[in-house]
Amino acid sequence: MTKHIFVTGGVTSSLGKGLTASALGRLLKSRGLRVTMQKLDPYLNVDPGTLNPIEHGEVFVTDDTGETDLDLGHYERFIDENLTRDSNATTGSIYSSVIAKERRGDFLGKTVQVIPHITNEIKDRILRLASEDIDVVITEVGGTVGDIEILPFLEAIRQFRNDVGRDNVCYIHLTLVPYIGPSGEQKTKPTQHSVTDLRSRGIQPDIIVCRSAAPLTEGLKRKISNLCDVPLEAVVSAVDARNIYAIPLVLHDEGLDSYVCQLLRFDGAEHEADLTDWQRLVARIDAATKPVKIGVVGKYVDLPDAYLSVAEALRHAGFHNDARVEIDWIHAEEIGGLLAEGRLRDLDGIVIPGGFGERALEGKIAAAGFAREQAIPCLGLCLGLQMMVVEYARNVAGLDGASSRELNPNSPHLVVDLMDEQRDVVDMGGTMRLGLYPARLLPGSIVEKAYGDELVYERHRHRLEVNPKYRHRLEETGLLCSGTSPDDRLVEFIELPGHPFWVGTQAHPEFRSRPDRPHPLFYEFVGAALDRAEGRNPPLLDV
Ligand code: GLN
Repeated sequence: MTKHIFVTGGVTSSLGKGLTASALGRLLKSRGLRVTMQKLDPYLNVDPGTLNPIEHGEVFVTDDTGETDLDLGHYERFIDENLTRDSNATTGSIYSSVIAKERRGDFLGKTVQVIPHITNEIKDRILRLASEDIDVVITEVGGTVGDIEILPFLEAIRQFRNDVGRDNVCYIHLTLVPYIGPSGEQKTKPTQHSVTDLRSRGIQPDIIVCRSAAPLTEGLKRKISNLCDVPLEAVVSAVDARNIYAIPLVLHDEGLDSYVCQLLRFDGAEHEADLTDWQRLVARIDAATKPVKIGVVGKYVDLPDAYLSVAEALRHAGFHNDARVEIDWIHAEEIGGLLAEGRLRDLDGIVIPGGFGERALEGKIAAAGFAREQAIPCLGLCLGLQMMVVEYARNVAGLDGASSRELNPNSPHLVVDLMDEQRDVVDMGGTMRLGLYPARLLPGSIVEKAYGDELVYERHRHRLEVNPKYRHRLEETGLLCSGTSPDDRLVEFIELPGHPFWVGTQAHPEFRSRPDRPHPLFYEFVGAALDRAEGRNPPLLDV
């Protein structure tokens, strides 16, 4: 029978519930348990696909076309499993299912209400992840206890324990224990209040995980145990870790995984956690110190979470190149000034990430051109590839005024455009290429050598494509379309022979990078950037 762990948060948002849940997932997996994870989000958008990344951070794409919350990225990176769209449910998606059922007449004659109809739907979503192949589902409830929006979720998870049996459910509550400077003390009051709040919804936490800058003292743990009515061993001190991948080790030292297994009666099967590989990874991270500076040229750079998977993929590639990647977040709109000041010259590599809308595109094009001319390693992701193609078309292929439909629909040379069949679709979602697609790579190309494979699969999320009408022109002037869809219709990868690394992909490879298995494109890119940082860059050939 599948067991369930629910993770709620109190006191404040941004406490790292997603990371705590992910770290626990890793610990349980390393005990031999089969783990999957889920996020319940209390907002009304049906999925985060329609949200500006400045609101909640990046939209994480799953293999099966799900546009999901960025916490799923943490889950995948920590538990090393590919999740599906079922791993994310928003209030909006739950209400729309219930309302669709109401219209179909499923509840004929009944008043449709939050309890039981919405709460039942929430429980169904949780149960969807339970199966013969899964020992434990970790469900993170987004938002903070005390928010109006999360009440139906709390009610659903409260009922859930009764539905599936006491020993099959465990509630973990994450709180903050702040340090108050003048009195020199860590304070438990916010934790007490937050637990009281949770109890007022009928949920007594089994475990309280306390985030704090310094470890909780034994005395403080005792106090929380007393006042919040949990055993001493159920108070877990989650002290700030030196990097996020060290969090499982911190929680393991606090005994979190063994206590969870005891509560859920995972007897026998669960030997001690085998953390050898993870410890090796953390040691590798600690030892990766060669500095390498990567500029990420985007328009959502005020909120680095908007590029979370890109940043993590860069870091993973750094770990395995013995390098510590320092990210310089660069406003694409400020590129003109930065180029004039010569600031981009200090970068060892440039990433042009994905995005939507016209704003800041000229800055991305300028950055791509600068990287091309100055032999600076450059990696274009989705929109990044598109802007590299526009740059090349304008400045090398002689296509004056070349552009992308997103930037200038009236351009004489739309080198990036909608495909014919997309033109008449009015539904914005209907035109999107989403989820996992195959690509065939050209033998001997940089990308084929990086992947070590001629057939690769990557996740997509975009509408526009390189316009096939211009492919020949681009190729005859030296751009290599080094990866295409298997039917050769769509350009999936481009690169520039003779340049140390000027590579673009129409996909989002960042979503498939794992800390212990860096993505090959990112790995090669950071390797090339490190070459530049350490003065090993080959001179630029005539490109
Ligand atoms: N806006 C571009 C498109 O729709 C690129 C999207 C992206 O970078 N994810 O094709």
